[in-house]
Amino acid sequence: MLRKKLEKQISYLLSRAGRFSYYSRIRALGFYKERRIRLSAAEKWKLIFGSRSEVIFPFIDIDITTYCNLRCKRCAKCIPYFEHRKHYTAEEIEQNLDLLTRYTDRICFANIIGGEPLLNPDLKRIIAVCAANKKIEHLELTTNATIMPDDDVLKAIKDGAVTVHISEYENLGPRYEERLKALVEKLEKFEIPYEYQFHKIWLDFGEIEKRWYTEKELDRMLIRCPMNSCTVYNNKVLYRCGKASYLAQHGMVTSEDDLIRMEDISSKEEMRKAVKRFFSIKHLPACQYCEAHPKGIPAAEQLEKDNDL
Ligand code: SF4
Ligand code: SF4
Repeated sequence: MLRKKLEKQISYLLSRAGRFSYYSRIRALGFYKERRIRLSAAEKWKLIFGSRSEVIFPFIDIDITTYCNLRCKRCAKCIPYFEHRKHYTAEEIEQNLDLLTRYTDRICFANIIGGEPLLNPDLKRIIAVCAANKKIEHLELTTNATIMPDDDVLKAIKDGAVTVHISEYENLGPRYEERLKALVEKLEKFEIPYEYQFHKIWLDFGEIEKRWYTEKELDRMLIRCPMNSCTVYNNKVLYRCGKASYLAQHGMVTSEDDLIRMEDISSKEEMRKAVKRFFSIKHLPACQYCEAHPKGIPAAEQLEKDNDL
């Protein structure tokens, strides 16, 4: 009797852990350590195995613009290839966040991102909207460090307790270094916490074109891909990664299984089911558009030398 109960319990936990089969559970914990977020053992357990009653997102990118002043080869968000560009307004972001968090208990970590978020003219109000959302526990803004924000924006960042996450691109040369230094000095002046994400090498997932992988190959790709934990929220739809978001927005991949349309969710139960499905899929149709064995390329190599750096 006891053994049966134990077996049932183990099988239940494994099925819950399956929610996060898309990324290594060990990496998930390392990921949080990297961001200096201390989680208790109970919180780690919930993050890995999920919760019977709560809807928890470990990490979500909140897209606020598809504009960027750089054109990086193999940008994970495919920003150089966007056909129609857009800055989201604070009202749109508020509406989108309300929908996302209506039946969500916690977003452990939300990242304001683009494109380049410092280009968005409504950034000050957007930060205030995100900071006011009680379901978001940690707020961060990711920048390429090439734009100097106004003092008003810096104040909003400080008031919103936002950590600035700097993607540091050493290959961009001495003018980039000057801008990076100036930005860091400003952040320090405003006592804004910041951290660097410094990668010399990026993975080259190849051109955006369809390959013809088998389902088995797609399963392997999703499990192994380091981008598979980069959940992206754009215009009321949640996607599994930047590439999936780009492809769906350009009508190239239309599977409804690997995204969540927040406007279709009308109860907590529906949200729980949608999140379970979202995190349990074995393969992502978008992976058909990536190289199965990506090679390394220099970080932030530019497609054309037409940026102002
Ligand atoms: S800085 Fe480069 S990697 Fe970042 S969004 Fe712009 S084009 Fe993409
Ligand atoms: S589409 Fe698949 S392989 Fe490509 S970045 Fe997303 S998860 Fe990785």
